[in-house]
Amino acid sequence: MTPGLALAKCTVCEATYFPMRLICAACGSASWGEDMVHKGTLEQMTTVRHAAGRADWQPRFIACVRTDKGQVINAGLEEPFSGGTRVALFDRDGSPIARKLANG
Ligand SMILES: [Zn+2]
Repeated sequence: MTPGLALAKCTVCEATYFPMRLICAACGSASWGEDMVHKGTLEQMTTVRHAAGRADWQPRFIACVRTDKGQVINAGLEEPFSGGTRVALFDRDGSPIARKLANG
């Protein structure tokens, strides 16, 4: 698991996205660079209690997180916490993970 989350950054207008798009929604460019975001705020979370075909499933927590650069992303949580909580963002094999920040 690596700290931060890579955003796709339009090289023309500097709009950022996660996940990456083929074409920039702001300017129509298809030229991309990368930007990183490390923190955000949890907006909502839910618990996934069942998965079809998985007898050994353990409940998992999924959240909507607004990053400090403005994107709203879906991220996995290792433990549940409430809306408004400040989080650190990580990349785990291409999947966003949010952890509660100790000091916001
Ligand atoms: Zn653009």
